[in-house]
Amino acid sequence: MKILLLGAGGFIGANLTERLVKDGQHEITALDIERAKLDETVKNGEIRFIHFDIRANEKKLERLTADHDAIIDLVAMANPSLYVSNPIDVFKLNFTENLKIAEFCVKHRKRIIQFSTCEVYGVTAARAFGKDSSKHPVPFAEDDTPLIMGPVKSHRWIYACAKQLLERVLHAYGLEEGLNYTIIRPFNFIGPRIDYLPSEQTGNPRVFSHFMNALLYGTPIKLVDGGVNYRAYTYIDDAVDCIVRIIDNRGGVCDRQIFNIGTPENEVTIKELANKMCATFDKYFRQPADPYPEIVSVSGEEFYGKGYEDCDRRIPDVTKARKLVGWRSEHDLDSVLFRTMKYFVEKHRTKQPSPGRDAVARYISREPESADFAICDGQRTDHLGNRLNVRKGRCRG
Ligand code: UDP
Repeated sequence: MKILLLGAGGFIGANLTERLVKDGQHEITALDIERAKLDETVKNGEIRFIHFDIRANEKKLERLTADHDAIIDLVAMANPSLYVSNPIDVFKLNFTENLKIAEFCVKHRKRIIQFSTCEVYGVTAARAFGKDSSKHPVPFAEDDTPLIMGPVKSHRWIYACAKQLLERVLHAYGLEEGLNYTIIRPFNFIGPRIDYLPSEQTGNPRVFSHFMNALLYGTPIKLVDGGVNYRAYTYIDDAVDCIVRIIDNRGGVCDRQIFNIGTPENEVTIKELANKMCATFDKYFRQPADPYPEIVSVSGEEFYGKGYEDCDRRIPDVTKARKLVGWRSEHDLDSVLFRTMKYFVEKHRTKQPSPGRDAVARYISREPESADFAICDGQRTDHLGNRLNVRKGRCRG
């Protein structure tokens, strides 16, 4: 099959491209405005890479669509701080430009696999009705759960709304014009090639990278609104495994379907995530000269700007992926964090090695045996639990 992979240079795209190349079953054309994450694959000449901005040349985009069997669309601005700072750009790229791709697929009768987001579910029904969602663990199901957005003045929701509208348009094209689409809603994938260290680039990456920055370089660990909201993390290789099954689409089971890809068992609050990351770092990666970051609580508005509102809880219901493509994720949270932290430390630690490095390096090459985080240093746990509102105060290891 000839696959056109739009947005191949991002975190999901690069991991997916590498896996498709390894499988060797398809001919891949990869497009992106960046290729740093794909450099090795491109250097080896294993894919055709085109440096291309989908906003720049509609005719070329149409020609490329017409020339391939399946279009995988990963092009998006998918970063909460951008939803707040650049809402119009977010809408234009995530809806207007992506709509063109969908319409070329309708015109040329091509299959489209559209990446959407778990944010389309918005806030939980519990939150919307003034209840505490920590007491109501209700998974989000693709074909049943209502999509509940916050008010317009909380313009963070423009991303979720743009994605939701795109999903609805694909569905309508499926009904009226027979468009063959599959929609994927990723739930917090992490793993190798995850976004950058905040201090190295402008912008604002995901929480994992912020916490790693804190552990490596001593910036504060900032818990937005105390870190009470939940996320469920999925290892990128597990996610890619599901995506490949969806691309293969044996028996056409994925035609006109929406899929959650996520790992409900890996749900944590952001405060728990910070605790686990500190414990994992101390156990496997810490060098003697590493700082102990302070932990502070900041408001969402302070961290992201006016117009931010958080998703309180999003538990994926993955029954459909299990039933239709036989998928389930394999990595538990300890393994996901260990592997992603290992990648991040190897890629981003730039400090001079300290005397203890060799000893730590021996640990780095191991998987956590049981990663029993209950043995996490009591002082740190206390610090996380009891001193959240204290602006100063070091975490002691
Ligand atoms: N968050 C945090 N500290 C940070 C960055 C993010 O507490 O340094 C919170 C954020 O408010 C949200 C969660 O962590 O509740 C996940 O944020 P992320 O940026 O990873 O993306 P999201 O899952 O919201 O798309």
